Amino acid sequence: MPERTLPRVLDTHAQAWWDGLRKHRLLLQHCADCGHPRMPPGPICPECWSDKHEWRAHVGTGTVTSFVWYMQPLDPRFTEVPYNVSLVALDGGPVVVSNVLDVAFGALKIGDRVRARFCDEPAGFTSLMFVQENA
Ligand SMILES: [Zn+2]
Repeated sequence: MPERTLPRVLDTHAQAWWDGLRKHRLLLQHCADCGHPRMPPGPICPECWSDKHEWRAHVGTGTVTSFVWYMQPLDPRFTEVPYNVSLVALDGGPVVVSNVLDVAFGALKIGDRVRARFCDEPAGFTSLMFVQENA
């Protein structure tokens, strides 16, 4: 597995997200007034403009809503191809961009149920990935 690097844009609004992942917990920022889940985390609710928020644990399950397979690495560090980049609609939550691991090319389908897998990266952070629920 190639070494992944922490995104350079790491603002204070996302710190609880990264801290939760490090503890293998999926925490989502929700508006404290209307309950809307914010992704990415931010200072203002896009639904009601409230500046109040709270972090809630999510069970980590969702549904694949779209995906693409990369047959050639876009980054030379990612030499293991093919790999997918998938949109996962978290149950009752927002859509996140991630990878579904341990799935062969052609075996991933829109509508597949997935669950979170927390991947501790050598660079010292944890990334959120998914695996198929039936895997
Ligand atoms: Zn709100």
